Amino acid sequence: MNRGWGILGKIFMWQALSAVVFFGTIGLLYSNTHQLMQISEQIVTKSYRLLDTAKIMVDRLLAMEEKEKKYLVLRKPEYKESFVSAMNEFETSLRDALTLLGAQREAVPLENLAREYAQTKSTALEAMDQDDVKDLWIPEDTLDRWGRWISIFKEMEERRIVTASQELHRRGRMALRWGLVGIAVSLGIGMIAAFSFAHAVRRPLRELRRGIRALSRQGSAEPVKILSEDEFGELAFAFNEMLHRLGEEERMRSDFLSMLTHEIKNPLTTVRESIGLVEGESMGPVTESQKRFLNLARRELDRIATLLEQLLRASRLESQPLQLDLQVIRPTDLVTATLQRTAPLCQAKGVAVEHAVENDLPHIVGDPDHLQRVLLNLVSNAIKFSGESDIVHVQVEKNTEGCVVFSVRDHGPGIPKAEQPLVFGKYYRVSTLRDRFEGTGLGLHIAKHIVEAHGGKIWMESEPGKGSTFFFSVPSKG
Ligand code: ADP
Repeated sequence: MNRGWGILGKIFMWQALSAVVFFGTIGLLYSNTHQLMQISEQIVTKSYRLLDTAKIMVDRLLAMEEKEKKYLVLRKPEYKESFVSAMNEFETSLRDALTLLGAQREAVPLENLAREYAQTKSTALEAMDQDDVKDLWIPEDTLDRWGRWISIFKEMEERRIVTASQELHRRGRMALRWGLVGIAVSLGIGMIAAFSFAHAVRRPLRELRRGIRALSRQGSAEPVKILSEDEFGELAFAFNEMLHRLGEEERMRSDFLSMLTHEIKNPLTTVRESIGLVEGESMGPVTESQKRFLNLARRELDRIATLLEQLLRASRLESQPLQLDLQVIRPTDLVTATLQRTAPLCQAKGVAVEHAVENDLPHIVGDPDHLQRVLLNLVSNAIKFSGESDIVHVQVEKNTEGCVVFSVRDHGPGIPKAEQPLVFGKYYRVSTLRDRFEGTGLGLHIAKHIVEAHGGKIWMESEPGKGSTFFFSVPSKG
């Protein structure tokens, strides 16, 4: 058999798919979180520091303006020193800001400022060396312009913080959405995998169960459908192979039995006729005790002949469809004929048979010999399994589906629940009764074939220790 995806392969495939989605989601979430961290780090470590530095620069500019104005009025050298220290601090802050900014767009106003500061610083330092200076070392409008550039830079940096915060918010929402989508898809794949796996397992198992049940109940079954190419498919294939082998063996056994039966039948007939001749005293007078033994031998021969006939009938049923000589039958005639034939058996066992046939029963169409055989088998069994002075009830009635239902009830040992589905199987004899009662286990099997060939049904109800009722239904005429 050609192996497709095995069960392990299928599980692995679904697991792999689920893992791809799961780890894909994790990867996506990781990269988003990483970007979120980068953006917030940028805001915290760079933008806020730049804003602080810009504030310091503005403070220093104001300090420089204040000191140089005071110096012009009071001419105290400490104002000159304070101006230089403010200028140095301003310069340091400006350098820090430019280093932090790198090649960023926001660096442009500060770069302009740095360029002009470099030119202005040397002029201012030269002017500071002269004692009779009349103007400010750095003109007021220059300081104002620098202040404006710092303000422009601050605005740009604040806008950048707003944009980065919006991006932070957007990416956060995106991460949440993709995370939820990923989890939902993984869950979905998991559920689809579970459903499809359960479905893939259930169907072939149901097929196999059907086949095994039919085999155990009827002794034969139709081959099961091979629904997949995995281990279940292999199991179904092996089951079908087993069925084929069993069928072959059954056929060989059946052929052998019918050959044996035919071979035994002829000598048996010769022996029976010979006994008949001796019994009839055509060979000379026979004593009473000789007659008794001859009678015994004839009864045993009859038993063997009945057994052979059952074996032949059962094997014929398997090899060819039942031939029915259909006639219109009155159900009550079947009952009367059966009771006549079982009367000696009833007498021998001390069992009584009561019968109740519903009035105005419709006629049935069937083969009288075959249907007679079915009813005879059920009544004989009921008598056989009844105790002395028990009563067997035979009932015939019409059911709602328009069939005539025959039932035979006894108060015998009953049949254990577990064995009830098996009693219609070939050669089956109930384990608890096997040693106490003789039989072949073929009567009910043959009866089932006959009833089903008439389009009817045969079934039973039994309670161990209380008795059994066997039913069969035959469709009524018209
Ligand atoms: P046989 O009676 O020749 O063994 P059957 O096919 O008629 O064969 O019956 C099969 C088996 O079913 C019997 O061997 C017996 O174990 C069980 N059985 C049938 N009828 C009854 C019954 N009325 N009560 C208890 N067991 C029964």
